[in-house]
Amino acid sequence: MSIESIDLTLIPGSEALRLRGSITPEQRAEVLAAFQAAWATIPPDDRDVLIQYWGQGGRAVSLVLIDQFPFLLKDAAAKADHLGRKLSLNPRWVFDKPVWDNLDLVLAHEIAHAYLFATDDPDHLAFAHDGMEQRAWDTLQRWNFDMDRHNELIRHVRSRISGKSPPI
Ligand SMILES: [Zn+2]
Repeated sequence: MSIESIDLTLIPGSEALRLRGSITPEQRAEVLAAFQAAWATIPPDDRDVLIQYWGQGGRAVSLVLIDQFPFLLKDAAAKADHLGRKLSLNPRWVFDKPVWDNLDLVLAHEIAHAYLFATDDPDHLAFAHDGMEQRAWDTLQRWNFDMDRHNELIRHVRSRISGKSPPI
């Protein structure tokens, strides 16, 4: 299937989060389904916090990009940067199993980081890597995501990536 450039809103009725990148129609459908599954699991009040944070000033400032650029120095599968206002998926890893099969959890994990930035979570803002990860895991647990599946995914990603980069 041919690769096409896309720019779509991800949250019904909101411009706050957009999906941008170059992917096939089949990949686009998978990403949209994974996002919808993750988003539906997040409690409504916390979804509102995220929409408010991402859409401040009426701008669609947060993107889910499928782009190699953010990963030139850090070889993670996905990352939340710009204080959780830009979420990126790494095309080098994201289409491979098991990451692709667990894309809902990959997105939920990065959205959890964005939520912690949005709420100025003090332990998350300490910027100590393990502290940030612990708070993301706590948040996913509070949101009732499948932590066994999440932790298996993290183990896989960490086993593949060397160095000090945040794994996911
Ligand atoms: Zn993380």
